Amino acid sequence: MAPIKLDSVSKSFGNVNVINDISLAVESGELMVFLGPSGSGKSTLLRMIAGLETIDDGALTIDGVRSENLAPGQRNVAMVFQNYALYPHMTVHDNMAFGLRNIGMSADEIETRVLEAARMLEMEELLKRRPAQLSGGQRQRVAIGRAIVKEPKAFLFDEPLSNLDAALRVRTRVELARLHNRMQATMIYVTHDQTEAMTLADRIVVLNNCRIEQIGTPMEVYLRPASRFVAGFVGSPG
Ligand code: ADP
Ligand code: MG
Repeated sequence: MAPIKLDSVSKSFGNVNVINDISLAVESGELMVFLGPSGSGKSTLLRMIAGLETIDDGALTIDGVRSENLAPGQRNVAMVFQNYALYPHMTVHDNMAFGLRNIGMSADEIETRVLEAARMLEMEELLKRRPAQLSGGQRQRVAIGRAIVKEPKAFLFDEPLSNLDAALRVRTRVELARLHNRMQATMIYVTHDQTEAMTLADRIVVLNNCRIEQIGTPMEVYLRPASRFVAGFVGSPG
């Protein structure tokens, strides 16, 4: 069963339609990229899956349970935001532990998870620092660590690299790909960057004007674009 499934989902803000009849299924362990220009609805779609926005029409199911029956906290998905959204007054350790303490997890289990995530992201030496004492790339790793410790069913990334400089963006992208391979985790990754999409995705969902232009592997989208828009956006040959 696909962990995340959308069936003819639509949404408007006021009378502006921002998501139009979207159907897709994210497979278990898949890294699916939502690729599209600014304003194409990528973040709204991700926020609906996270439970941060309601849907107007259609059905969203997570592990077979319809979203109306799931509070955001019950969805077991972890979102990583573009601006990191760290707590400035807490150490790196506590930023990662906070969400787990809130759900009443035992202190031992919390320590195990925080240390394991820190090791995985090679940031054990940063645990006692506060966000102000970190570089942009390190902050982004903490934000990813905070998602990992939840051991979520799926990770939702909203343009996680867009605030990093070019070199760091490439490095973090490679780290993310490695993390995905190691964890075999289900991930949705939102970006407007064709290179990120091409290098990270198992499958790409190309969005434009609130609708899906094409769903396919990077090669399919690149070599057999379904529309002029897709061809232009991903820079297909010919
Ligand atoms: P993307 O992430 O692809 O840039 P968004 O999902 O952020 O696109 O936005 C899609 C459209 O929805 C845009 O036209 C945006 O202005 C509009 N929009 C997003 N959030 C809101 C909101 N809370 N209220 C009104 N309009 C919104
Ligand atoms: Mg966005």
